[in-house]
Amino acid sequence: MAENLEKVIQEVTARYGKDRTRMMDIVREVQAKLGHVSGAAMDLIAREVKSHRVEVEGVVTFYAFYSDRPKGRHVIRVTDCVTARMRHVGEVVAAFEKELGIRVGETTPDGQITLERTSCIGLCDQGPAALIDDVPVTYISTDKVPSLVRVLRETGDAKKLVKTLGEGNNALDLVQSMVINNIRRRGDVIFAPFEPGAAIRNATAVSPAEVIRSVKTARLRGRGGAGFPAGMKWEFARNAAGDRKFLLCNADEGEPGTFKDRVILTEAPDLLFEGMAVAGYAIGATEGILYLRGEYAYLRPYLEHVLEQRRAKKLLGRSIAGKAGFDFDVRIQLGAGAYICGEESGLIRSCEGLRGSPRDRPPFPVERGYLDRPTVVNNVETLCCAARVLEKGAAWFAQIGSEQSSGTKLFSVSGDCRRPGVYELPFGLTVAEFLKEVGGEDAQAVQVGGPSGTCIDRGQFGRKLGFEDLPTGGSMIVIGPQRDILEVAAAFMEFFVEESCGWCAPCRVGNVLIRERLERIRAGKGLPEDLAYLEELCTTVKKTSRCGLGQTSPNPVATTLQNFRKAYEAKLLPARQDGRQPTFDLRAALSEAVRVQGREPVAH
Ligand code: SF4
Repeated sequence: MAENLEKVIQEVTARYGKDRTRMMDIVREVQAKLGHVSGAAMDLIAREVKSHRVEVEGVVTFYAFYSDRPKGRHVIRVTDCVTARMRHVGEVVAAFEKELGIRVGETTPDGQITLERTSCIGLCDQGPAALIDDVPVTYISTDKVPSLVRVLRETGDAKKLVKTLGEGNNALDLVQSMVINNIRRRGDVIFAPFEPGAAIRNATAVSPAEVIRSVKTARLRGRGGAGFPAGMKWEFARNAAGDRKFLLCNADEGEPGTFKDRVILTEAPDLLFEGMAVAGYAIGATEGILYLRGEYAYLRPYLEHVLEQRRAKKLLGRSIAGKAGFDFDVRIQLGAGAYICGEESGLIRSCEGLRGSPRDRPPFPVERGYLDRPTVVNNVETLCCAARVLEKGAAWFAQIGSEQSSGTKLFSVSGDCRRPGVYELPFGLTVAEFLKEVGGEDAQAVQVGGPSGTCIDRGQFGRKLGFEDLPTGGSMIVIGPQRDILEVAAAFMEFFVEESCGWCAPCRVGNVLIRERLERIRAGKGLPEDLAYLEELCTTVKKTSRCGLGQTSPNPVATTLQNFRKAYEAKLLPARQDGRQPTFDLRAALSEAVRVQGREPVAH
């Protein structure tokens, strides 16, 4: 056994050149071969890559998809995000529990199947969904659960669960997925036909500085939500000192309600890789990394194939498109179920084989990023837009959309609407127009930009989607009139409590306190002063947290407090004039002391 373990570790680490920065791949592969990464395996990995056990353990325990304890041969991860709850995922989980005879978090006695809950897996428009091993399974209803479990047990192969194939490239041999694209509206930028090489030819006909000027003239802003001008970011990296620079593509969309990058990766990977090459040319990078979220591992063989095709066509590799000195290639780095890796410094650390904890800034990644070299991190959609700018020209791109938000935007639409899916629409349309498009006119609220964004009420449906008014990374969750808005906010807070990396106290502790106070209000035990407490706490967490996650995590409560105050007030107990707390439960407060001491308090 020990010999086999050593052999496996040596083989896997050797495949990655015993390079500690490839720790994510090493751990993933060891886990795939051995079922988990034991302490003994961690010691051996550390020895082989000349690292420390604590560093390996840090990685194994940080990512949700890695485990230091044995799990079943198969892992069923049922998504538990808000949109899944809207579609009664609780009943599906209960059906799995009944069928397997275990509770969530447990493994069947025969060691075959582990059942887990997970946050958003990028299938919000076709839930309830689950990842069974790496295979996405969609539209799960309680009556389908017994046959899913039976097929998994009988065949031992999660791929056999795919009975019907999704449309477009989902049906390719290399994908073979039941996932559907659900593209409801195609625009001119992302989903229009594209000829591979067209943007690269135009880019290499001019200097890198002119490419950057084009992207600036197009007024292309990052599509992740913050909207930083892409051309400016490229210019910073181009001007940064250093002979080795990197271009990283953030394909780790993990915000609940976001799934548009999955569709781009499925249907327009050439446009994306073209954008990466153009960006590489502009900033002077020779290496690119596509950071692919672990939930999309099923797309990897297809994406590797597209990369191979591009190498064969001289659109990647050395002297791209015949341009001497323009060398650029891309490798795919799989993530492993950590939302924080969508934050750019967390993503960089993950690519370096570390825990995805964000870094302090400055220095910014454009000066010192991946491996301490100048690095640009752009989102999938941004790079696709950049390719289109170079293909069709800055003026063409700039005339689409609005003054501060040029181009189109992809929206991932889920929740209470008749037509969920992916929409490519020009920036600048109002929320009311958007709701008409997606069939959600009776919504009481829209969660714009996912949990970290803004929850707006009907009075704000005249606002415009774009950087000048309502920015969004793309997640749009429609909340129907039948929903309890506080329940939605509570589910989002659960998500942030779960996903906080725990590095800084305001985020680690503050989000728990916000969730607790919100629960007290939901339970009908809140006091009027709790609202002021929540507002102050939200502000403190936002102002003092280290990274974007903590700086936006109170938004589900902060924005519903602002826009749905009556929903909170309706749950509160009336204020008492004597200053005593009507909800103070002496017995509950003493229960922990009673438990520790093993006796009831004695009256004197
Ligand atoms: Fe980690 Fe949250 Fe602090 Fe960000 S804000 S570093 S996620 S604890």
